[in-house]
Amino acid sequence: MTRNEDRIRVTLLGTGTSTGVPVIGCACPVCTSEDPRDERTRSACVFETQGLRILIDIGPDFRRQALREDIRHIDAVLFTHHHFDHVGGIDDLRPFLFKNRRPVPCYARCNTVEVLQKMFTYIFEDGSYPGVPNLVLQAVDGPFTVTGRSDSSCSVSVIPIDAYHGSLPLFGYRIGKFAYLTDTNRIPEESFDLLQDLDVLVLDALREEGHPTHFSFDEAVRAAQRIGARQTYFTHMTHSTLHADADARLPEGIRLGYDGLAFETGL
Ligand SMILES: [Zn+2]
Ligand SMILES: [Zn+2]
Repeated sequence: MTRNEDRIRVTLLGTGTSTGVPVIGCACPVCTSEDPRDERTRSACVFETQGLRILIDIGPDFRRQALREDIRHIDAVLFTHHHFDHVGGIDDLRPFLFKNRRPVPCYARCNTVEVLQKMFTYIFEDGSYPGVPNLVLQAVDGPFTVTGRSDSSCSVSVIPIDAYHGSLPLFGYRIGKFAYLTDTNRIPEESFDLLQDLDVLVLDALREEGHPTHFSFDEAVRAAQRIGARQTYFTHMTHSTLHADADARLPEGIRLGYDGLAFETGL
């Protein structure tokens, strides 16, 4: 990783909904597809910039994703919300503390922090067991700066983006000209203002059919076109979407994401 370059390198670790795809016990055409893009682990991403490597969400497939992408070091985790498909891999942060014992900072909205403290009391309340990951959970409510765990002179600014997942308020995140906004079906007006002039937007799009807490494809296309990023990738898809078919039907500038997709944006 190099510092002082104005680029962000992003890798989509997972692009699947909460069950993952294939779904356990399902023999549908998507779950049995041989196209690797139809295998979707739980949604998360990693980005690198200014000498830092930062995760957005750490779901139950994180261990496999980290091995696949050869992630050997991380500086911080940004949580979108507390649902299990976004936090279930938190204990797999332990290997990142073997060589660097400095705590891993974890940033989240205040409601997410409160639930994480209850979900993982052995980490955040007790903490006395020697194998507990050393994490520092920080509630944020506006732009903040992440600094490096190995080199504290490295830093990057992060802008939380308010959105709603049904009635649950959560965060998307903007870093430079990249924004990641999963698990939402409502973006408030003020948040659209924070999403202007993006190179790449990663956006929730569950499936063709509507859903009470996620954007359908049509709703996601409308939101993506209003935001107007140069490129939008959809994420958090179910097993109702065959990649090759659905991807070919999307308008220009909008594509389906897939596990392992990597791209660069400006900072
Ligand atoms: Zn989710
Ligand atoms: Zn299926």
